[in-house]
Amino acid sequence: MSLRPYIVGNWKMNGTRAMLSEARAIDRAAQRYMKVEVAVAPPYTLIHAVHREAEQIAVGAQDCHPGTDGPHTGDVSAAMVADAGAKFVILGHSERREGHGESSEEVRAKLEAAIEAGLEVILCCGEPEKTRKSGEQEEYVLDQLRASLPDTLDQAGERLSVAYEPIWAIGTGRTPTLGDIGAMHASIRTFLVERFGEQDGSQIRILYGGSVKPDNAREILAVAEVGGALVGGASLTADSFMNIALAAGEGDDQ
Ligand code: PEP
Repeated sequence: MSLRPYIVGNWKMNGTRAMLSEARAIDRAAQRYMKVEVAVAPPYTLIHAVHREAEQIAVGAQDCHPGTDGPHTGDVSAAMVADAGAKFVILGHSERREGHGESSEEVRAKLEAAIEAGLEVILCCGEPEKTRKSGEQEEYVLDQLRASLPDTLDQAGERLSVAYEPIWAIGTGRTPTLGDIGAMHASIRTFLVERFGEQDGSQIRILYGGSVKPDNAREILAVAEVGGALVGGASLTADSFMNIALAAGEGDDQ
């Protein structure tokens, strides 16, 4: 598995074909930033088109259904997104957990379906603000992970990343202190090693997400156990997104 920093753009419900020029620009820049692994998750409607443009970056989906096919109007299966060109899928994002009432058990079913379909998975977790204020954030996040992850990885460890995204930091311009990010990532690492053993548990990348911007990326990405970033708003233009990638590569433009 590559241990390069993993910088993933989540375009959410943004982008029509007019955004393909940004995808092309991201891909061109990524060809020069080889110390960093760059990926984008556009809406379903653009997965195939972005995949066709991309020579360097990976393309992913933002969700998938746990089933393989059948009467699920409006849903899309893991195999379908893979067929469209997705290499990975983001699962359990707080906007799906909160906005669509997704439980951790549903997220786990989706994760198992995605692994079965050959996809890589970025599993999101993160606490609401009131939980952070009450000091129970660690327990909350580890409970989410406990319920969202399968009991064993069956060699799929290298296809899994965890993204810690405190809900109150998403799209707000606010971030936890570097110490708080480090403490949470260390707890997640300990949990993963306990759950899956040293070999699998230590190779799962733990990304940070929540208001990562070009001007804070370098310090966040330097925190121990931060293996990359999941980026929302700042991934919508090639300029800001690739400045984050540049920071992740410690300024190396090779
Ligand atoms: C996200 O929603 O995954 C995210 C991190 O958003 P933003 O970067 O805009 O806070």
